[in-house]
Amino acid sequence: MKKLVSIVIPSYNEADNIPVIANRIDEVFSGLNYRYELILVDDGSSDRSVDVINRLRETNIHVYYLEFSRNFGHQLAVKAGLDHACGDCVISMDCDLQHPPEAIPELLQKWEDGFEVVYTVREDDKDLSKRKRGSSSLFYTLLNALSDIELEPGAADFRLLDKKVVNVFRNFHESEPFLRGLVKWLGFRQYALHYTPAKRFSGKSKYTLKKMMRLALHGVTSFSIKPLYTAVYLGFVFSLASVLYVPYVIYAFYTGVEVSGWASVIMTIVFFGGLQLIILGIIGIYVGKMFMQSKNRPNYIVRSAVLPDHIS
Ligand code: UDP
Ligand code: MG
Repeated sequence: MKKLVSIVIPSYNEADNIPVIANRIDEVFSGLNYRYELILVDDGSSDRSVDVINRLRETNIHVYYLEFSRNFGHQLAVKAGLDHACGDCVISMDCDLQHPPEAIPELLQKWEDGFEVVYTVREDDKDLSKRKRGSSSLFYTLLNALSDIELEPGAADFRLLDKKVVNVFRNFHESEPFLRGLVKWLGFRQYALHYTPAKRFSGKSKYTLKKMMRLALHGVTSFSIKPLYTAVYLGFVFSLASVLYVPYVIYAFYTGVEVSGWASVIMTIVFFGGLQLIILGIIGIYVGKMFMQSKNRPNYIVRSAVLPDHIS
């Protein structure tokens, strides 16, 4: 029996891209000696993507889908796909054809070579907009500086996971998983494959700068409590600085030197006010996470699904 490859594709308002990516994947597999299933995870789209998928299913027997009850976000859509995929390995990729399906044979080759995780790293691409490149590089700088994991800039959510790894993932119930980091954290034998991203086929990026910032903050705070330590160290530094300042103040008091400086006082108050708010916010994020997790709600809700028979 040929090995089964599951392809998981999160999709949010990508009706125009779905038939195209399904065809491209089908072409790739027609030249390979594997069986495959395509699991589209519709993340609460408002563009009737599910109708498009159902129409596609009339001609393409490999297509299955899961439909969320609302938009739960890219990471949870991928997680849902992993939870329901039954292949000997699972490949996750975006719906917009930025992750070229033509790279699939290479991923599979590395898997056959014995790697259990084959993740991809985006080669810097001149066509990518300046803003996207800027926000992406800020994202990785922030993440690597403030957390304990080391991610290559450009690590993408285009990766192959062996069945063993997928099974480990099923036991993860984080309310907001940060998959790139989690995969790195898991260990196993990993291989980084470099690829050149293509242009988005149709539609706009769903990751705004705001969503990227959120993902970065979330990535940092879900992997380490390093930011809390940073707050403590900062506190020490400023306390020490203020202690060193005391002798000067006493000297000024006794010698009657006029200590002027309304501006500097205001600046200091504003600066420390800001710093305290930031630190309070960081603590708040951790507390908020505990709150969200402690409610123990399901991480995503499936509205409807058509899945292969071997999945119960
Ligand atoms: N996506 C999703 N839910 C969301 C946002 C995005 O499922 O809330 C999907 C989207 O359809 C695409 C993938 O995640 O398949 C990556 O999104 P996008 O291409 O917008 O991100 P970018 O490539 O710009 O980082
Ligand atoms: Mg994209």
